Amino acid sequence: MGHIIVIGAGQAGQSLVTKLRSLGHAGTITLIGAEPEPPYQRPPLSKKYLLGEMDLNRMFLRPESFYAEQDITLKLGAGVSAIDPVAKTVTIGSETLNYDQLALTTGSIPHRLPAKIGGDLAGVYTVRTLTDADAIEPEFKPGRKVLIVGGGYIGLEAAAVAARKGLQVTLVEMAERILQRVAAPETSDFIRSVHQGEGVDIREGVGLDHLSGTDRVTAATLTDGTELPVDFVIVGVGIRPDIELAEIAGLETDNGIKTNDRGQTSDPAIWAAGDCASFMFNDTRIRLESVGNAIDQAELVAENMLGADKPYTAKPWFWSDQFDVKLQIAGLNTGYDRVVTRQGEHSHMPSFWYYRGDQLLAVDAINDPRAYMVGKRLIEAGKSPDPDAIANPETDLKSLLRV
Ligand SMILES: Cc1cc2nc3c(=O)[nH]c(=O)nc-3n(C[C@H](O)[C@H](O)[C@H](O)COP(=O)(O)OP(=O)(O)OC[C@H]3O[C@@H](n4cnc5c(N)ncnc54)[C@H](O)[C@@H]3O)c2cc1C
Repeated sequence: MGHIIVIGAGQAGQSLVTKLRSLGHAGTITLIGAEPEPPYQRPPLSKKYLLGEMDLNRMFLRPESFYAEQDITLKLGAGVSAIDPVAKTVTIGSETLNYDQLALTTGSIPHRLPAKIGGDLAGVYTVRTLTDADAIEPEFKPGRKVLIVGGGYIGLEAAAVAARKGLQVTLVEMAERILQRVAAPETSDFIRSVHQGEGVDIREGVGLDHLSGTDRVTAATLTDGTELPVDFVIVGVGIRPDIELAEIAGLETDNGIKTNDRGQTSDPAIWAAGDCASFMFNDTRIRLESVGNAIDQAELVAENMLGADKPYTAKPWFWSDQFDVKLQIAGLNTGYDRVVTRQGEHSHMPSFWYYRGDQLLAVDAINDPRAYMVGKRLIEAGKSPDPDAIANPETDLKSLLRV
């Protein structure tokens, strides 16, 4: 049976240890996390928790007592500094633990702005952890001026919360349009108009040149020369996988910790899952930065650690909440050459369906859970309805599942 150690007490780590026990693993399990809190959900950090509409207790994936009940040793506030894959040990401070199998669920690290452009001034934040969100919260006072750098999901969600709280919000996106990396122009246009309707000043095709201030940020200069007074800044310019320990252990990395279709790294006793792990999907090595992937991949790794020998088939899905809009995304749109728009029969909200040739790849559904659900099931079943049927508001979406 042996000792299984999981490093990284986030979404994937929590899912992995829970699954090990539910599958009947009777050996010792240790879950080690650098953060002080037991595993919690990150999505509300830029949504309801930041808005003040969700209590801390509801953030935790399980109450702390769960781990003791399940005989899972939880070591918190404990950063692992080294792995020795030959001796099969991990080091935390002066302590050394032996493992039989190890899993890395170390997540990812947000990009920060370089110090030379003011990135280390007080009042400049990223949103990854509870500590980050708690530090930002006191800044959210009506009338204050916040600059959001980056028009991806996290930047847009933070902008929506700030606007709801009565702040003056400016968001800059260096690319031609918000969400350019992840969505079609149709989705960007819709989301932009929602933000503009709520008073967010969205500036696209313009980046941040530098921030200034003595100790604390007081102004931002944009690449078009505009100078904006600011009270604080939230940076949402992407993340990188946390591969530090994997590198120390000499594991292969390629866009994250390289895993095979079983979730195993280049060392057969070490596995990886969640944001930190890359894997093959439709002939491309990808990483998915999402709750759904963290759970599914971690649960599969748990099965495989116990000998199931099953391949991972990713079923990408994601969501984002901004103002009264719930955007739900199924599939991965990489390589799309056409977007079909459908107006929802009940919601009168659009959904955007991505095709490559005749193949349905992904759906972005706006306040339309039915379009999302049907799209997800079609994609997972490998079914591609006629785009004209999708575009026709008379088509009963559910009927497409029966074809
Ligand atoms: C603000 C925000 C909003 C989001 N919104 C959504 C959303 O709406 N929908 C969605 O699907 N996804 C969303 N995500 C992404 C989602 O939360 C992540 O994909 C998911 O948390 C990944 O889980 P993980 O376990 O791989 O990593 P994490 O949850 O990041 O956990 C990794 C943990 O490993 C720890 N760790 C790292 N190195 C060590 C070490 N050496 N020793 C000990 N511990 C270590 C870290 O401290 C961290 O606690 C959001 C993320 C953020 C930050």
